[in-house]
This record gives sequence, C-alpha cells and structure tokens, in this order.
Amino acid sequence: EQERLRLPPWLKTTIPTGSKFSELKQQLRTLKLSTVCEEARCPNIGECWSGGKHGTSTATIMLMGDTCTRGCMFCSVKTSRAPPPLDPDEPRNTALAIHQWGLGYIVLTSVDRDDLSDGGSSHFAETVKEIKRQNSEILVECLVPDFRGNRESIERIANCGLDVFAHNIETVERLTPFVRDPRAGYRQTLKVLETAKEFNPDLVTKSSIMLGLGETDEQVEQTMKDLRSAGVDCVTLGQYMQPTKRHLKVFEYVTPAKFKQWEDRGNELGFLYTASGPLVRSSYRAGEFFITSLLK
Ligand code: SF4
Ligand code: SF4
Repeated sequence: EQERLRLPPWLKTTIPTGSKFSELKQQLRTLKLSTVCEEARCPNIGECWSGGKHGTSTATIMLMGDTCTRGCMFCSVKTSRAPPPLDPDEPRNTALAIHQWGLGYIVLTSVDRDDLSDGGSSHFAETVKEIKRQNSEILVECLVPDFRGNRESIERIANCGLDVFAHNIETVERLTPFVRDPRAGYRQTLKVLETAKEFNPDLVTKSSIMLGLGETDEQVEQTMKDLRSAGVDCVTLGQYMQPTKRHLKVFEYVTPAKFKQWEDRGNELGFLYTASGPLVRSSYRAGEFFITSLLK
C-alpha cells in the first residue's frame, strides 16, 4: 500500500482570534443554528467570521439534513438511498436564526436529495425567500446540487432572490468518474451553471476545484476555461484533504506558490474573483471577496 504523504507545514493551522469572531460565536450559542464552519472544524473560521475590512462576515449552513443520496469519493457525509424527510419548519427557523445572528453573507448548502421529486429545490428557494424577508440586506449564496440537470429546479433557485449561485465542478474532466458520484458529471455541472445564468443573467455564478488529486496543469487550465465559457464569474481552488482512510488518497500537496499562480491565471481569464490557496474552500471569505469585487 502506498504510504500516506506527510502533511506540509502550510497546512498546519492556527486557532482563530478576533473580536468579531468571538462576538458571533457568543451569539451563536443562544440560537438553534449549526454551521458547517464549526461542525467541519474549518480552519478558516477566524477569517470568514471576521469578515475583513468591510466586515462582511461569512458562514455556511447545511440544509436538508446530514444524509446524502450520493456517495462521492472525497466526501465524508453519510449516505442513504432514503434519508429522513425534510423539516418543513427549517426555512423559517433558519431564516430567524440567521437574522438574529447578524452576518453579512450566508452560504446555504445541502446534501443531494435525489429521493425528492424536485431535488429539494423548493425547500432551498423557500429558505432564501424567508431569509430575505427577514433581512433584505444580507447577501445569500446557494451552493446547490446538480438537480440532475432539471431545468425547472435550476430556474426555481436562479429566481428565488439569491445573490450568488454556486455549484462545484470539484475536479478536472478526466478525474471526474473517479472522484464524484456516478450521477454527477463534468458536462452536467457546466450545463447547470450555464442554465442558471440563462434564467437570471444578473446572477453571479461560482464554482470550485479541488487540487492534489492527480490532475495536470493543462487539465486545470482547461477546467478554468470551461467554467469561463459557461459564464461562471468566480472560481475557488483549494487543496483536497482525505477525510478518512476509506476516501481517495491525496496524490500531491500543491504548494502555496502554485496556488498563487492559479490565482493569477484566474485573474487573466477574467473571473470576477479567484480565491486560490491550500486552505481555500468554496465558501472561503465569500462575503469579503464578493463585496471587494463589486467595489473594484
Ligand atoms: Fe465556514 Fe466556509 Fe469559511 Fe470554512 S471556508 S469557515 S466552512 S464559510
Ligand atoms: Fe458529499 Fe455532495 Fe457528494 Fe453528497 S453529493 S457525497 S454531500 S459531495
């Protein structure tokens, strides 16, 4: 068996600090809201929750339960063909809690729910509407499943009042069958992103690529170009980390210098913003980047 690669120093992380961070953490204790940031022990929590110089703090919330109908080789979320039913109160309760919490930018994401006829798109859209009803100022990003390419579901999300439509391509085309669930597809993802834009040309669209799975530079370059051709506005690139021994091994730890090169390349290709670094996740400092790119 191939030995596991040693963790390079740039992936060893420090404990977050900052007054805005502590304040949000304190407030969260009294609300019934669990964040992906805390549950996944995300190393970016200090930066995301603090929000940078415009104070646009970002957090990520997972909707529709903790059980996915798919099983991607890089993801540690549990899988079942029949997850528990949706909580009909979730849209309202989530919106209330988010409103009281006082964030600038919220990322809503979810497991895939192939068991539901609409893939959960109505539930997603309802949550966004509730959030905007409570507080029209807060910026909302939805990081959505592919809905198997269903146009009605994509339209429902694209026109629900969100600010950013995100769907992750995850990896280059050649590695897609080895990395993502067989129901996901490279071309389908591009199509989903393109379709969202078609239904609402004012939407900002966004996608994310994991590096370190054995992709070549040419393939990364091609993926970025394919995203641009699908009208995608923002891209993030980060290091793939193996969640458990049963998951795909890390092929390579990409250096910070290399991530910087991809950031420059993204800027050359005309993305509104490119967030690229070993610890970057799809929602990394999303609010801050969004605001800064609008002010450019
Ligand atoms: Fe939360 Fe995403 Fe930021 Fe991590 S990168 S702290 S999950 S918003
Ligand atoms: Fe994980 Fe999403 Fe794949 Fe489900 S569809 S296994 S949540 S990456």
